[in-house]
Amino acid sequence: MFLLRLLLLMASAYLLYRLVRRFLPRSSSQELPRGGGASTPLVRCTQCATLIPPETAITRGEHSFCSENCRIASVR
Ligand SMILES: [Zn+2]
Repeated sequence: MFLLRLLLLMASAYLLYRLVRRFLPRSSSQELPRGGGASTPLVRCTQCATLIPPETAITRGEHSFCSENCRIASVR
């Protein structure tokens, strides 16, 4: 009987954990993979030379673009 109660306790704890995680903001789970600080190096757009954060940049090979428009403009 003790094992069953333990199992129930663990199941409810897991459910609670999932519930809490769902309602919590994602900021804690979204850690930078490289462990860098707040200052991430900016990428320069090949077409218009605008500095943009790498996660929003569109990368094609060695070139980075600030927007789809710049990427298309560079192809032409
Ligand atoms: Zn651009």
